[in-house]
Amino acid sequence: TAKDSGKNKFSVFDQEMNRQQLRRMSLEKDLRKALACSEFTVVYQPKWDSFLNVAVGLEALLRWKHPEHGLVSPTEFIPIAEETGLIVPITYWMLKDVCSQNRLWHTEGVAAVPVSINMSARMFENGGLYDAVEEALTFSELEAHFLELEITESIAMNNMEETVAQLSRLRLLGVRVSLDDFGTGFSSLGNLDEIPVNTLKIDQVFIRKSRMHSKKAIISNIIAIAGNLNLEVVAEGVETPEQIELLQSLGCRVMQGYYYGRPMPAGELGEWFIANAAVS
Ligand code: C2E
Ligand code: MG
Ligand code: MG
Ligand code: MG
Repeated sequence: TAKDSGKNKFSVFDQEMNRQQLRRMSLEKDLRKALACSEFTVVYQPKWDSFLNVAVGLEALLRWKHPEHGLVSPTEFIPIAEETGLIVPITYWMLKDVCSQNRLWHTEGVAAVPVSINMSARMFENGGLYDAVEEALTFSELEAHFLELEITESIAMNNMEETVAQLSRLRLLGVRVSLDDFGTGFSSLGNLDEIPVNTLKIDQVFIRKSRMHSKKAIISNIIAIAGNLNLEVVAEGVETPEQIELLQSLGCRVMQGYYYGRPMPAGELGEWFIANAAVS
């Protein structure tokens, strides 16, 4: 009967819900200890100037090695870290770690490029970002223009006045700002000129579908807007020579994606830079 099958479905559904909730709860519990237990590491992905054939930047991406589950994807644990507020101390730790690492690359002669760190909305609600950035820069003796913060359109739009005020102060320090996943948010273009950013990062969905005429048109227009507003542009998720050729033909020179380099542990970057040094 309907009642029986309904009951049956419900229990299967219930089990799945239960399994997901249990994983979520256990991850949340473990996330609270992860920082103290040194379970986070940072990997770095190059941003590549495809005309000059040199790396012009790096993006720092967080990795969590869970003692039992192994690597947990940021797309799973970042939302939990955001909801619980844990993202704030994690990002403060990352700021110090990344700035120190970048400074080390300078002194070792490995590279001297800006490294970007992704910012959650929480970072702008808490009021401590400016001081944390300043402290990380002082602690590491890194010049401010070698640090970049990646924000998303939704962060900028959520609390526009407050975010703009904080970003303006950070930029006075010399810190760079980029707008991540550009084109997928709901920002009205009318506000774009009011957000203090250096760079637009074209979201990877457009690059993935760049064979489609309509996506090509969107990419081309993002590049044009960036040019007209005097912003730099980076294409994300570049995986194939066809995509590179298209992007170059549209005037985009800086690209980030698996084709040029996957996110790598800091220890591998030295060799990567040597192997990929321009042979002019
Ligand atoms: P995102 O900031 O847009 O970072 C780019 C993501 O695309 C990274 O995934 C990167 O590994 C991936 N990617 C790069 N090139 C390619 C490519 O050619 N093809 C494909 N398919 N993917 C590519 P990841 O590291 O898994 O991070 C996912 C998202 O998690 C990030 O997106 C960012 O929103 C968030 N995230 C990562 N680390 C942090 C962090 O330290 N703090 C915060 N707040 N968010 C972070
Ligand atoms: Mg990013
Ligand atoms: Mg992105
Ligand atoms: Mg993304």
